[in-house]
Amino acid sequence: MARPNQAKIDLHALLHNLGVARSCAPRSRVMAVVKANAYGHGAVAVARALEKAVDALAVASIEEAFTLREAGVACPVLLLEGIFDAGELLACATQGFWVVVENERQLDWLERSQLPRPVESCWLKVDTGMHRLGVAPSQAAEFHRRLLDCKNVSDHVVTCTHFASADLLDSVQTPQQIELFNQVTADLPGPRSAANSPGVLAWPAAHYDWIRPGYMLYGDSPFEAPQPNADRLLPVMTLCSEVISVRDVPAGETVGYGATWRAERDSRIATVTAGYGDGYPRTAVNGTPVLIAGQRASLAGRVSMDMITVDVTDLEDVDIGDEAILWGEELPVGEVARCAGTIGYELLTRMPPRTPRVVVRG
Ligand SMILES: *Cc1c(COP(=O)(O)O)cnc(C)c1O
Repeated sequence: MARPNQAKIDLHALLHNLGVARSCAPRSRVMAVVKANAYGHGAVAVARALEKAVDALAVASIEEAFTLREAGVACPVLLLEGIFDAGELLACATQGFWVVVENERQLDWLERSQLPRPVESCWLKVDTGMHRLGVAPSQAAEFHRRLLDCKNVSDHVVTCTHFASADLLDSVQTPQQIELFNQVTADLPGPRSAANSPGVLAWPAAHYDWIRPGYMLYGDSPFEAPQPNADRLLPVMTLCSEVISVRDVPAGETVGYGATWRAERDSRIATVTAGYGDGYPRTAVNGTPVLIAGQRASLAGRVSMDMITVDVTDLEDVDIGDEAILWGEELPVGEVARCAGTIGYELLTRMPPRTPRVVVRG
């Protein structure tokens, strides 16, 4: 018998969520974002499931791109931050890695390199308000022309930008960024791209030629408020474990490190083998929902490295061996994240190697 905790990965749900993205933006090509180990789900399994169904994949670094190539994933892979030194360009040209160009230094490297063949596609990033990466709107035309003139760049030059607030459904910044991007690209040839997951789901004016969904593919809503497209998503990861101990705790007694939870009535506490060493956030507060044998119960006491304790007083017949779901089916990761002062993106991405990923529907 092995320790029963695992992250079940439902690749069927992944493809369903890709279908939601396509139905939102039927005229756009799809670049699926699989950076950070596919948001913690396992980059190779996710990329293999997606590669025939998408037009390209995207990662954060050439190391992540090589991981995919070494596993036999053959489709184009965009490096979302571009390259970090000129030496990476040779591999980009020969391996079919596409590069973002977001500053003068990266463009210089492209112009000065001797490559056996051009880089297949360059994505010129324009800063329309995120103020993190990208060239200024006033520089976009010159960069675009230099890329088209560059012998090391094919003529597939995409102009792209990134949203700062698209996850806020009433954001005023997003329409401003779209408007500025339209102005900047009005006279530029070639495809355009702007939409991350919230852009795909809720901002049709941002779809352009390529969409770049990440988080939504993994099946949780990027919005706090209900949103009709996001409500169709299915969670890909279900983090589950089992009850390994059950005990009665009399009123007045406390549970766990630091005695931060006190029984207000005679209580029943179930101990589940999953803690912050398994990716469950230590910052989750008392009352955070946990599903025990399919029923909602509440976290009681501090999260330990390997265990949590759950108040199951109001549940019937809880026993050792009962299934515990920490997030996933019937319990959105974003809801748990809010109870832990963070976002679902972080909980998924931080999932440690110790937690086995088990593909359940491939
Ligand atoms: C991570 C990333 C995305 C995907 O964002 P989600 O909110 O996860 O969909 C898209 N574009 C860029 C440039 C990114 O870095």
